[in-house]
Amino acid sequence: MRSSALLAAGVLAATVFLTGGCAVHSETMGTPSSSGLPSAGPSDQPSGSPSPSDTPIAQLPLPTTKAPLPTGAITGLPKGGNYLAWTVDDGADPETVEKYVDFAQRTGTRLTFFVNGHYPSWTQVADKLRPMVQSGQIQIGNHTWDHPALTKISDQQIRDELTKNDEFIEKTFGVSAKPYYRPPFGYHNAHTDAVAASIGYTVPVLWYGSLSDSGLITPDQVVSFADQWFLPGHIVIGHANHTPVTEVFDQLEKIVQERGLRTVTLRDIYQG
Ligand SMILES: [Zn+2]
Repeated sequence: MRSSALLAAGVLAATVFLTGGCAVHSETMGTPSSSGLPSAGPSDQPSGSPSPSDTPIAQLPLPTTKAPLPTGAITGLPKGGNYLAWTVDDGADPETVEKYVDFAQRTGTRLTFFVNGHYPSWTQVADKLRPMVQSGQIQIGNHTWDHPALTKISDQQIRDELTKNDEFIEKTFGVSAKPYYRPPFGYHNAHTDAVAASIGYTVPVLWYGSLSDSGLITPDQVVSFADQWFLPGHIVIGHANHTPVTEVFDQLEKIVQERGLRTVTLRDIYQG
């Protein structure tokens, strides 16, 4: 049963990858379309054979030395270490956002939330989330105020979208998201990168693997995508838009645990 489920997941993943995802938006795909495969990204496979570990994920060590801040887009973490950057976008559904926050609080999982401030979820959960942001367990990244494709709006609109959300993040969580932002849909180019960089957003954070849940999929599908993409060095994108992921947090944590992965924020890995 397990092998057939995995096979089905593989077929589905391949389909999603090729078609660019679902009806909501294309952050479902395995890698962002605009940048293709990472030139110096992580390996597709775990390095060596990670052994199952009983160590709670919150107790595995974080990097002792940090990598230089990247110049330009990243799709994966630097090689070396069993680090997984689990990132969570949007926040369309308040219940899903809150359950993600509860999950982080309960397990110590380190997450990066790329928030769209126009969703009320982030304000509603702010008091609970803020201490984890302040401690560094949760990083807040800028995903623009209301999720436009940066490649289809004016330079001033790009600046306004990032700045309005930047001010929201500062006001709500007391931190700056700079220099990290995620272009909605993964759509970016040299021009949008330069406009964003002109106001301090120098690192577009893309991904190498997706839970494919920007639209509604089943809990089992979420687990299958985690099984496929939760690997060392990967930046994986998920979404706080629909509840199925909240039904399988324990299974996702088990995958992290069994593979000896250490969840990290981007600031855990990079200087800055
Ligand atoms: Zn998004």
